[in-house]
Amino acid sequence: MADSIVMEEMTWPQVKAALEGGFDTVILQSASVEQHGPHMPLLTDTLIGAEVAKRIALKLGKTLVAPVIRPGLSNHHMAFSGSFTVSPETFKAMIEDCCSSLAFHGFRNIILLSSHGGNFTYIDGIAPSIQLSMKRQGFDTRIIPHVNPGRYSRIQQDFLGEKYGVPLEEAGFHADVIETACMMVIRPDLLHMDQAAPGYIGDNLPLLDRIFVEGMHSVTANGIIGDPRRATPAMGEALLEHLTGTLAGELQRRLGRS
Ligand SMILES: [Zn+2]
Repeated sequence: MADSIVMEEMTWPQVKAALEGGFDTVILQSASVEQHGPHMPLLTDTLIGAEVAKRIALKLGKTLVAPVIRPGLSNHHMAFSGSFTVSPETFKAMIEDCCSSLAFHGFRNIILLSSHGGNFTYIDGIAPSIQLSMKRQGFDTRIIPHVNPGRYSRIQQDFLGEKYGVPLEEAGFHADVIETACMMVIRPDLLHMDQAAPGYIGDNLPLLDRIFVEGMHSVTANGIIGDPRRATPAMGEALLEHLTGTLAGELQRRLGRS
């Protein structure tokens, strides 16, 4: 058996053996390459997304992780240098073509996740047409989107409030204490904590509509929603386990395994 469940790190005979050994499920994570404040790299969502996908796959069992799709839908971050965005058509084509590749190799369940908020609603919207496309191509593969807008953040914000006493306004949802703590676990070498500073502080979920229309820069000058300064590696580890445990439990039920 392969040491890794990350397809890109595996050889083709290892993937073949996994499929023959009952690995019928795969996670296709979408992310972004976009600004994450002055203290974190553009790759933040991609790195967190890869880690989250890996932890969920291990919890589910018999599940592999496909390449993380990025850049994503990041129009609202373009005022910040270096951010990438792709058109909805390009994004959809990437997801659909990856699903076709995975279905072609024999995966029966493709779980669509996103570690970037801007992709959430869109993925939910295109999932039925990708499912139809699988059928038209003759694949008996189930497309399972699990991207409830706002909820991904909420699971972590609530946990942070209960366990660490961080108020909702400070927890934020972009380049915040949550993402910073996770990055302290995943790639601490890419952080510049001396540059970490508060961004927009306040009731932040009602901001979403404005952010998607007017851009992040309309509410935050440094690109942060929340305050990243309380982040610790222990907090990051606890958050990653809480989020992936919650999502894996929900997905087990959707897969009909529990
Ligand atoms: Zn992010």
